[in-house]
Amino acid sequence: MEEEKTRMKKGDTIVLYPSPGMGHLISMVELGKRILELNPPFSITILLTQASFNTGSTAPYVRMVESSFPAITFIHLPPISLPIDSSNLPHHETLIFRLLRLNNPLIHQSLLSLSLSSSILAILYDSFCGPVLDIAAQLHIPCYCFSTSPASCLAAFLYFPTLHRLTPTSFKDLHDTPLHFPGLPPVPASAIPLPMLDRNDEAYDGVLQLSGDLSKPAGILINTFDALEPRALKAISEGSCVPDAPTPPVYCIGPLIAKEKGEGSRDCLHWLGSQPSHSIVFLCFGSLGLFSSAQLIEIAVGLERSRQRFLWVVRSPPSEDPTKRFLPTPEPDLEALLPDGFLERTKGQGLVVKSWAPQMAVLSHNSVGGFVTHCGWNSVLEALCAGVPMVAWPLYAEQRLNRVVLVEEMGLAMPMVGAEKGWVEAEEVEKRVRGLMESEEGKALRERTAQMRDKAMTALGEGGSSRDALTELTRVWKQS
Ligand code: UDP
Repeated sequence: MEEEKTRMKKGDTIVLYPSPGMGHLISMVELGKRILELNPPFSITILLTQASFNTGSTAPYVRMVESSFPAITFIHLPPISLPIDSSNLPHHETLIFRLLRLNNPLIHQSLLSLSLSSSILAILYDSFCGPVLDIAAQLHIPCYCFSTSPASCLAAFLYFPTLHRLTPTSFKDLHDTPLHFPGLPPVPASAIPLPMLDRNDEAYDGVLQLSGDLSKPAGILINTFDALEPRALKAISEGSCVPDAPTPPVYCIGPLIAKEKGEGSRDCLHWLGSQPSHSIVFLCFGSLGLFSSAQLIEIAVGLERSRQRFLWVVRSPPSEDPTKRFLPTPEPDLEALLPDGFLERTKGQGLVVKSWAPQMAVLSHNSVGGFVTHCGWNSVLEALCAGVPMVAWPLYAEQRLNRVVLVEEMGLAMPMVGAEKGWVEAEEVEKRVRGLMESEEGKALRERTAQMRDKAMTALGEGGSSRDALTELTRVWKQS
């Protein structure tokens, strides 16, 4: 294996540059694996940024990939420490933007060292990592953006500078006024990603920069497939999202999903094995989703009253100490967090898992029939590929926008009402969970999800649109 790595390192390579966070990393690794399946004459090198704040632990996953895929090499960049002023706490995205700007000299250095031993055919960076464009231009390396969010979100980002010019006020002041992005259903102003809401916010400028940078790469890869978002894709490729400049060609190469992420207890899978077919509703909220103690209690009460079987991943609430807001939370004390006697009373009805579950394996299990999700794009694609219908409970990043698209455009989820305002009553949890598992609406969602899963498999198969798009890119890189 070592010998093979050395041989590959001396040859051609494609560099992948994900932004920090498990969701971004997983998608990038899957992209690397998918490229390698096409047997290209080059290796994959992943630049791994290390942040001092909570972006989820990626170490076990990275170790697993390193040991299983000899043609994938990680370059572990030196950690960057960001001083955080606790009196003026920024968004998570603000930290990411700051971090990735500071990271640029390290990226430059890594690319220079790598180019001593390898010929870099292309850099694929995720949309937050736009600062790499300048370095790539200096080094004459073609750059491709990889959007780990849906095409609908890409359409919104591409159109954002235009919308900014047309709107005299901060979007937060428009409350629920519908905004009209090309190729999307009307989106309430309050549902656009948080950093886009306030034009006095540092993150707002970061998003404007990110959006402007999207016209610079040689192409944009998206983790989606043609049949899932035809309207948004048409708007992007027709240039409706950027009226005053050409939009780079777009390649839909998804769905890319990771079957194995190398961490968390698998005990819950044994438990699922003892449950009836399609009877379980799974509740899991991404790598960073946290709820207040009061909200955890509402969920517990709603679940118990729904009488539906459940598997629920519970994390500790966010720390009340502002200086700890961006640090990982400790293991939850379930007895203290959940209502008195809840665990005992629901023993035959459900299982609570601490902090992390093997989500893809859970969703693929025959006992699982519904998913309450935070609408992170990886989670959505994983549910879709497993044919599991969703209840949309968005929490952060672009998830409120994803919710609108999932519910209004794709018809793959029902909304958890109240989530968009940050508070969901127990009655709503009870009603939605029961509705998902038992109602005609839930049944219709299940059927549409199964149809979309079949279309996803077609896109990925021989002669499918996603496979063809990646094959075409691989051919272009080989020639460069
Ligand atoms: N995930 C998991 N177990 C958990 C929570 C998350 O395996 O308990 C995985 C999930 O399957 C997905 C990723 O972590 O692949 C989360 O990515 P997503 O884009 O859904 O959300 P993010 O964490 O980026 O907000």
